[in-house]
Amino acid sequence: MMGHSHAMTGAIAWLGLAPALAAIPLLNESSRYIDSGIMAAALSPAELIAGALLCAGAAMLPDLDHPHATIAQTFGPVTWGLSKVVSWLAGGHRGMTHSLAFAVAAGFGAHWLAERYPIGRDVLVVLLIGLALRAIGIGIPRNKLGSAMVNIGLTAGLYAVFMSLGVGYAWLGLAVGLGCLVHVVGDCMTEKGCPVLWPMAARFVLPWKIGIKTGRAFEQKVLAPILSVAIVGLLFLRLAPI
Ligand SMILES: [Zn+2]
Repeated sequence: MMGHSHAMTGAIAWLGLAPALAAIPLLNESSRYIDSGIMAAALSPAELIAGALLCAGAAMLPDLDHPHATIAQTFGPVTWGLSKVVSWLAGGHRGMTHSLAFAVAAGFGAHWLAERYPIGRDVLVVLLIGLALRAIGIGIPRNKLGSAMVNIGLTAGLYAVFMSLGVGYAWLGLAVGLGCLVHVVGDCMTEKGCPVLWPMAARFVLPWKIGIKTGRAFEQKVLAPILSVAIVGLLFLRLAPI
């Protein structure tokens, strides 16, 4: 699937599932459930939107295993270098990062960062905002440096806005895990499938053979408009004062 499909399905998953996820109780170190859920504060309008954006960005993380993909240019050489490392670790495109194990590990890793290391958390938040913006096509055609600058500026602006609105990131792990998972499901709908149960080598394609050919007319002319309308609809549903 192309980046914008992944990013949009990530946002849809968040907007669709946030109320259900908010009901998950928080488990603390001594393994006692705490009544206020892990996402207790995630349903304010600002956090809902921040979550949708971050989940969209997380839905791009698995494709950092592809240094030539557009999203590797998000922050210029920084993300390109990161992508080189991920690609090397993952053993090439559509390897380890396209698995359940990666989604779970990324989710727990992000949760751990959010709880313990504010600086690491903020770096991840900035990266995810940037990936989401790049995936939906924010940038200047044929101008890598200009695109990186636009993206850095917008990302910094959004980060500051979220901070001023008091967005906390207790739910970061859920957003990251969910985003990666949605990416894997999306790629399983394409002809190549994913190694869902990595380290087992078997590749999985969804059984009803949707067989979306990445980047073909269907994805660009049918799927993209449907996903866009779904996002607008869900935003309305969640935020409109009814
Ligand atoms: Zn992928």
